[in-house]
Amino acid sequence: MSQIKVSRMKPRPTLVPLGTLIGRELRTEKVEKPTIKYGQAALAKKGEDYFLIKPDCQRIPGNPSTSFSVFAIFDGHNGISAAIFAKENLLNNVLSAIPQGIGREEWLQALPRALVAGFVKTDIEFQQKGETSGTTVTFVVIDGWTVTVASVGDSRCILDTQGGVVSLLTVDHRLEENAEERERVTASGGEVGRLNVFGGNEVGPLRCWPGGLCLSRSIGDTDVGEFIVPIPHVKQVKLSNAGGRLIIASDGIWDSLSSDVGAQSCRGLPAELAAKLVVKEALRSRGLKDDTTCLVVDIIPFDRPILPPTPMKKQNLLSSLIFGKKSQTSANKATNKLSAVGVVEELFEEGSAMLTERLGKDFPLDSNSGLLRCAVCQADQTPNDGLSVNSGPYFSPAPKPWEGPFLCSTCRKKKDAMEGKRPSIPLVTA
Ligand SMILES: [Zn+2]
Repeated sequence: MSQIKVSRMKPRPTLVPLGTLIGRELRTEKVEKPTIKYGQAALAKKGEDYFLIKPDCQRIPGNPSTSFSVFAIFDGHNGISAAIFAKENLLNNVLSAIPQGIGREEWLQALPRALVAGFVKTDIEFQQKGETSGTTVTFVVIDGWTVTVASVGDSRCILDTQGGVVSLLTVDHRLEENAEERERVTASGGEVGRLNVFGGNEVGPLRCWPGGLCLSRSIGDTDVGEFIVPIPHVKQVKLSNAGGRLIIASDGIWDSLSSDVGAQSCRGLPAELAAKLVVKEALRSRGLKDDTTCLVVDIIPFDRPILPPTPMKKQNLLSSLIFGKKSQTSANKATNKLSAVGVVEELFEEGSAMLTERLGKDFPLDSNSGLLRCAVCQADQTPNDGLSVNSGPYFSPAPKPWEGPFLCSTCRKKKDAMEGKRPSIPLVTA
């Protein structure tokens, strides 16, 4: 039951279409959904960490067989309003970007793009409030054995699978750690550098200016350049039916513990206790320097009470094969070769900060009503209200006409601003 599948050691394994996977699952595996058990623990220093636990969402309201779970962490900065706003609105904004009346398979395939749309919509709505705080988001959707993680900022989600393989499902959007993001910010008109204190000495982590934020992606942050984008890195994986454990936590944990140590510190314990132990372990090594929030989510085979203990002998070998430190990750390229060990199948990964690349050209439009639906905010508009495929040069001063899906004028402005095509100004002044 828990034995590891045969390794596929190709350097870049081809992705198996989701339909094929689900077909295979229905034919050869137990169709029983896994059980989800979770625990949460936190210690506050500034009180800017928030979390969301929604274990019983339904794709089709009233139909329990369409259930899925959502877990998220929001680590706010410069105030709490962006973290609270994202906690209250992000899930609805993501779900409203998924077409109605589609099956599970299509729903899972639509999810990565809906996450991009939902993050951007939430950011636009928050910025329209004219408040200046910001937040990281690590947002996890679990449907059966399929786990989809979308993230901006430096909170982290790791996956500990049977066999002791620890892998990172997020990338780090700290400027200090992410050269690719430094290049993007600079190319979009931002400046990256350290704080200059009196006497000319540079101190602290790399930050981008104007604003002085040390993250390259977040929700909110109206007062910094729009090259600080809300477009999430998204990764979708399918666990084997041996299950696995997710540890989702704010940087207060990961500044103290490596992913490996975090996973090892709580193996074999029930989720509730595990979350407490991870926080305790982080505190033991570094003290309470920052808000520290941890969610532990176990995806457990239907007939087991808890995740079976991990055989210790495989741990070191396997985790050294695939475990990447946060500084080694890049926004656009997959660095965790999860599939290399055959425990987890990678279904999707994309981290580009360009909306064109993230929304695709065939984003579902509302063709019935004759109205065009904005691919980001889902507002229906008559064709003249916004900018569609054919409206390029007349409406836009950009050198290339926009060839992506329909965007309303507000979302189009946001897109141009994120790409550095217009000066950073708030969409609405308070
Ligand atoms: Zn829009």
